[in-house]
Amino acid sequence: MTSTRAFIFPGIRSRVVFGAGTLSQLAPEMERLGRKRALLLATPQQRNDVDALADRLGSATAGVFAGAVMHTPVDVTREAVAAYAQSGADCVIALGGGSSIGLGKAIALRTGADQIAIPTTYAGSEMTDILGETSAGEKTTRRDPAILPETVIYDVDLTLSLPKEMTVASGLNAIAHAAEALYAPDRNPILSLMAADAVRAFAAALPVLVADPFDRGARADALYGAWLCGAVLGGASMSLHHKLCHTLGGSFDTPHAQTHAILLPHTIGFNAAVAGDLLAPISAALGGATPGKALHRFAARLGAPTRLRDFGLTEADLDRAAAIAVKNTYANPRAFGQAEIRALLQDAWACTEPPL
Ligand code: NAD
Repeated sequence: MTSTRAFIFPGIRSRVVFGAGTLSQLAPEMERLGRKRALLLATPQQRNDVDALADRLGSATAGVFAGAVMHTPVDVTREAVAAYAQSGADCVIALGGGSSIGLGKAIALRTGADQIAIPTTYAGSEMTDILGETSAGEKTTRRDPAILPETVIYDVDLTLSLPKEMTVASGLNAIAHAAEALYAPDRNPILSLMAADAVRAFAAALPVLVADPFDRGARADALYGAWLCGAVLGGASMSLHHKLCHTLGGSFDTPHAQTHAILLPHTIGFNAAVAGDLLAPISAALGGATPGKALHRFAARLGAPTRLRDFGLTEADLDRAAAIAVKNTYANPRAFGQAEIRALLQDAWACTEPPL
C-alpha cells in the first residue's frame, strides 16, 4: 500500500477548549450554546467529582445521573433519558471517560439535547459521531451527526487522578485509533499528520506517567494526543483492530481500554505485512524495526496488560470470538479468514511477540 493524493477531508466539527484549569470555561461554554440547565452525567466511580461539578455550576445544574457504565447498555440509557426529561434540563454535560460520554451521546440521540463532553481518559469518544450500545449481550454501533458532542472541554487537571494502569491502557487505546487511521481506506493527509503527532505525544508521555502519574507536562502531552486520536477516530474508518475489540467487548464483556491494549500489537503486526510505509510513524515514534514489535515492546515496557487469558477468556472463547469476528465484512488492508483471526487471538491470549 502507498500513500494516496486523492482524498476527502470531512472536517472537524466540534468546538474544543484545551488546557489546564479549563473547567472554569464550562459556564461560558454553556451560555455560548444558549443553554441554561444541564443534567450532569458520570459513572458511580466519579460520583464525588460530578457532585463537586454540580455544586460549582449551582443553579445551572438541573440534576445528576451517576449511573453510566461501560458499553452503554440501553436499559441504563432508558433510565437516564427519564431523568433528563424529569430534570427539566436543556443539555447534558458528561464528565468522565467513554462510558459517561457514551451515555451523553445516547441521550442526545434520543432527545436532541446539546452535549458538552469533559473527557478524563484518553478513549477519544468525545470527538466522534459514533455510538456503540449493548442490548442482550450484543453491541451495535451507529454514526449520526446528532451523536457528536457540540463542545469538548479538555482539562489536564482532571486527568491527574487517572490511575496508572488505566492511563497506560487508555493511552494504548488512543494509539489504536491513530494506527488504524494511518491505513484507513478513507485516510487523508491531515488525519495522517494528526495520527503521527499523536503517537509521538504518547511515546513521550506514557513512560513519564508510569514513573510519575502527576507529571503535569506529560499529562498535557497525553491529553493532547488523546484529542488528536479522538479526531482521527471521528474522521477515518477503523478496521480489523477495532472490529475485534468490539467483538470481545460486546460478546465477552472484556474491559474496553485493556482489550485495545492487548490486541493492538497483534492486529497492527498482522496488517503491517501489507501496509508498506503507512505504519512507519508507529515504528519511528516508538522505536522498533516493525510496527507490531514496536508496539509489543512499548506495551511491555509500560507494564500494560498483554494477555487475553488474564481477562477470563478461555481458548474455547477464542474459537467463538473468531467465528463472530468474520460474520460481517469490512475494509481491512490485509485479507483474512477465521483461521487467521483465531491465530492472532491465540497470540494475544498468550502474549506471543508478533512477527512484524
Ligand atoms: P470508562 O469511561 O469506563 O472509565 C473507566 C473507569 O475509570 C471508570 O470507572 C471511570 O469512572 C474511571 N475514570 C475515568 N477517568 C478517571 C479519572 N480521571 N480519574 C479517576 N477515575 C477515572 O473507560 P473508557 O475506556 O474511557 O471508555 C470506554 C467506553 O467508551 C466503552 O464503552 C467504549 O465502547 C466507549 N468508547 C466509545 C468511542 C466512540 O467513539 N463511540 C470511543 C472510545 C470509547
